Amino acid sequence: MSPSRASGNDSHASGNDSHASGNVLTLEEKAALVVGSGYWATVAVPGIPSVSMNDGPHGLRTQPNGGDNLGLGASLPATCFPPATGLASSWNRELIERVARAIGVEAIEQGVDVVLGPGVNIKRSPLCGRTFEYFSEDPFVSGELGAAWVRGVQSVGVGASLKHFAANNQETARMTVSAEVDERTLREIYLPAFESIVTRERPWTVMCAYNRVNGVPAAENRWLLTEVLRDEWGFDGIVVSDWGAVDQRVPALAAGLDLEMPGPQRDSTEAVIAAVLSGELDEAVLDAAVERIARLASRASASGVAAASGSSPEALEGSDHAMLPSRTSGSEAVAREAAAESMVLLRNEGGLLPLDTNQSIAVIGEFARTPRFQGSGSSQVNPTRVDAALPSIEALAPVEFAAGYTLNRRADPEPLIREAVRVASRSSVALLFVGLPPDEESEGFDRDHIELPAAHIRLIREVAAVNPRTVVILSNGGVVSLEPWHDDVPVILESWLLGQAGGAAVADVLFGRVAPSGRLAESIPLRLQDTPSYLNFPGENDVVRYGEGVFVGYRYFESADVPVRYPFGFGLGYTTFELSDLRVAAGRDTVRARVTVTNTGDRAGKHVVQLYVAPAPSAVARPRRELRGFEKVALEPGESTEVAFELDARAFAHWDTRTRDWLVPGGDYVIEVGDSAHDIVLSAPVHRRGPAPGRLTLESSVGELLEHPVTGPILHRAVRGANDQSDMHGSLFDMVATVPIRRLMRFPGVGDSMRHLPLLLRLANNPVVRTVAGWFQRR
Ligand code: BGC
Repeated sequence: MSPSRASGNDSHASGNDSHASGNVLTLEEKAALVVGSGYWATVAVPGIPSVSMNDGPHGLRTQPNGGDNLGLGASLPATCFPPATGLASSWNRELIERVARAIGVEAIEQGVDVVLGPGVNIKRSPLCGRTFEYFSEDPFVSGELGAAWVRGVQSVGVGASLKHFAANNQETARMTVSAEVDERTLREIYLPAFESIVTRERPWTVMCAYNRVNGVPAAENRWLLTEVLRDEWGFDGIVVSDWGAVDQRVPALAAGLDLEMPGPQRDSTEAVIAAVLSGELDEAVLDAAVERIARLASRASASGVAAASGSSPEALEGSDHAMLPSRTSGSEAVAREAAAESMVLLRNEGGLLPLDTNQSIAVIGEFARTPRFQGSGSSQVNPTRVDAALPSIEALAPVEFAAGYTLNRRADPEPLIREAVRVASRSSVALLFVGLPPDEESEGFDRDHIELPAAHIRLIREVAAVNPRTVVILSNGGVVSLEPWHDDVPVILESWLLGQAGGAAVADVLFGRVAPSGRLAESIPLRLQDTPSYLNFPGENDVVRYGEGVFVGYRYFESADVPVRYPFGFGLGYTTFELSDLRVAAGRDTVRARVTVTNTGDRAGKHVVQLYVAPAPSAVARPRRELRGFEKVALEPGESTEVAFELDARAFAHWDTRTRDWLVPGGDYVIEVGDSAHDIVLSAPVHRRGPAPGRLTLESSVGELLEHPVTGPILHRAVRGANDQSDMHGSLFDMVATVPIRRLMRFPGVGDSMRHLPLLLRLANNPVVRTVAGWFQRR
């Protein structure tokens, strides 16, 4: 390798150089490059232009002059789409891809190279203050929808930043808390969304989390950032820190963190230089980070060229990708469509919805006039406009409005409630907009309850008492309790936070211009106390123990038979659907399932067909069922279609803590198709063959010998011969199943009777004998 370009100080010259676009960088330049320049950009060095990054994820927060990471300062106007909590309820990959593509187009217009999203952390507890920014309690849904988002943004040549890696599931002490999670739980719940997006969509960047994972800061966690992310999943982009997540730059760099943000941080740069010079840090590690940042910069400038020429980068490369749509033509319409599809109709007694416009309508609730349409913090968008529901409804029907409450909670609610009751009592239907005020949920802190404000609950009950045709429309980022007022009202529409076009979209749904088709991407519990992390959230003394393990969300409710108000996957529409004719075909490595879905009602609508796998009986505690596939279909009245799923081995696997690898235990699994995690409509068994039995030794347990195709039948026969109390056999085996053979042989009398065992084990371990015995066993 050629020597470094002359640096200001000769003693800084190093033997290893980074070649970026043909240029050779000095050690100082390289050390400067791995720390940001300002809030939103990387440093430019000779041959490597600066890369700009901005939040994300449900619209842009571009701050051309300085900045902050809490959404406090001004940002350029941008389209505000529904945050992830709403988008996820659409269960619509194609729609989310279009949303992200529209965000990408605006990013190009604002000169942004990388959008800081999506956030795919799992909703471990409804209390997490940032739950509005995350998709689901389920890793498969999070992975599928997060992948759609990354695909959309990157299809126009703008990078994504998959965040926050990993186990960032609360805001309390977010910069210091250690998430204590066992590896099986990480592999099955908290990592799969990242894994599936990294391996399929190759995001340009991954953002590390603030928190520690099992004691090691995510920013310094070599296991996460290098062994899992790069070595196992093949990630080839850059790892960027969350804003301010780096405490010690050198250990972070050594662990695989390429870029510290924001910058500049003189102490970090100097520490890197000193560590290289002292030999504490191998310069090759710095060079690798520099190369990756250089690659990011060249990707970004290639897209910049493409955007300037009016083509997508794919189009420039000769693909048939469409020309970029302009923001004005597309974003607003996509935002409205996404908002309509984000709503979940939870209750519609007597088919009260859709409404007809020919009736007197009371619109009640300040949120109808001043909507809450996004959450607070780094994701906060300065919207190009905001549609409130009130004017959108007024445009369709005669309306009388009452505020019902103020956003300023110091005001006396009584007069407003009385006025609302008066208005409701003289209207044919009452549309009641309630929810969580912005100061109740935000990035930076967690909730400590899931109740609506007391004034909103009173308003619901009083309005419902005078108007039996009351429709509650909820605005909230995190799940709220629907008790104790649930049964008082015939209709509940969960509208989450809908982005800037939410008001128009609510009117579209209420009056049936668009049929609701959202499905819950998280369970709505009856009580906070029922949620699996209740006793372990948010931890104490900077430690949070993920004591519920893999039993998160519906995995817990379904396995422990704990009733919920509405299960994961649930949602109503204006028509009905029927699932029929489930067919399952098992191949060696994959299982195919097909099912027919029919619109049996008299209106067009969309349905989400959900496929779950129920595990074969096993000694490892596994959730009763886990979502492994879903498809959203649109059908006209009377129309049917067939939905097909293909399941690979991972759909049946659990993380085996002994081998630290995925394992499909042999046995009879069940493919279940249904309308929610609780409402399974059709099921079909499917057998999966487990791995060949491992080598038997004297340390193997009696149970392992009993399951083995060679030793199993012999042992069963031997015990039956020696013991004619035949109904004892079952319990006898149960009593000693976990006892290692060597220990069993130490009991007086037993050792003698088992003196041929070593020979039997040798026989069992012979591959030919094992294969033949296995063949007989399967017959
Ligand atoms: C958030 C990130 C965000 C970053 C930049 C941090 O506080 O956790 O999600 O992208 O700020 O604003």
